[in-house]
Amino acid sequence: MALRKILTQGDPALAKTCRPVEKFDRKLHWLLDDMKETLQNAGGVGLAAPQIGILRRVVVVEDAEENMIELVNPVIVDQSGEQEGWEGCLSVPGQWGQVKRPNFVTVRAQDRHGNFFEASGEELVARCFCHELEHLDGHLFVEHTDRLYTSEELDAMQAEEENEE
Ligand code: ZN
Repeated sequence: MALRKILTQGDPALAKTCRPVEKFDRKLHWLLDDMKETLQNAGGVGLAAPQIGILRRVVVVEDAEENMIELVNPVIVDQSGEQEGWEGCLSVPGQWGQVKRPNFVTVRAQDRHGNFFEASGEELVARCFCHELEHLDGHLFVEHTDRLYTSEELDAMQAEEENEE
């Protein structure tokens, strides 16, 4: 396994539409293993293959129990409700925005061997499914927010909220 470099906003790979995975071979398993290691190392909750420059429909997402789910060729098959909250991206480091997402999302995907399965998540996990799947079509969360905040601004706002309580 190896750590891969995470590309940042402005890199053309992040604006591309990714191709479906057709071969569930050792190369895919290496990719998934590297993505999981890279995500863990970066301290994020989700990573899409284009973020490390691989234009294939592959994402890894951390679920509510902190297990990493491998999603190959994922599609959203059900969604409901709404949530608005802070969102960031390993490819947009140090920037945060308020983004509306469905509160509950079900994804249908294949595992590393090609078997189909469904995974559901709410709140942060649902947000993460939406965020990561968008990467596969060349979209970033910054398209859904009017304003980006720096980590310092976010900390200041949270400190202010705590003072008001
Ligand atoms: Zn992202």
